[in-house]
Amino acid sequence: MTRARMPRPHEVAAARRDPRLLRAVSERSLDDAWRTRGACRSVDPETFFPAPSEPVEAAVALCRTCDVQGSCLAWALEVGDCHGVWGATTPRERRAMLVAWRGQVRPDPEAADDELPPIHDRMLTLVPLA
Ligand code: SF4
Repeated sequence: MTRARMPRPHEVAAARRDPRLLRAVSERSLDDAWRTRGACRSVDPETFFPAPSEPVEAAVALCRTCDVQGSCLAWALEVGDCHGVWGATTPRERRAMLVAWRGQVRPDPEAADDELPPIHDRMLTLVPLA
């Protein structure tokens, strides 16, 4: 695995203005109900975990139609980072968003992470940022 570089300041500044991040901040959910409403529930999970050489457009396009896009991205950012497409973002896009997110949203001390979401139907792999 190659080590991801830290996002540059201008990338973080752009992430702070990204409408997807702003939606995630406003739709951050303290319960897990959003997980049952994902547009990806009936789609092959592999669509959301393309190989590095494969296109992500199909997954991102489906996310853009999803009613819980903001909550989904908020969840991915709270996890820290993970493979795959979540909330219409790629892992690379989320690296800069994660820095912005940590400056904008305090973690919920009551949040439990012992249940994985039904969406994607697949184990997550956490990716260290540094
Ligand atoms: S990955 Fe998230 S935003 Fe995309 S379709 Fe599934 S639940 Fe919706």
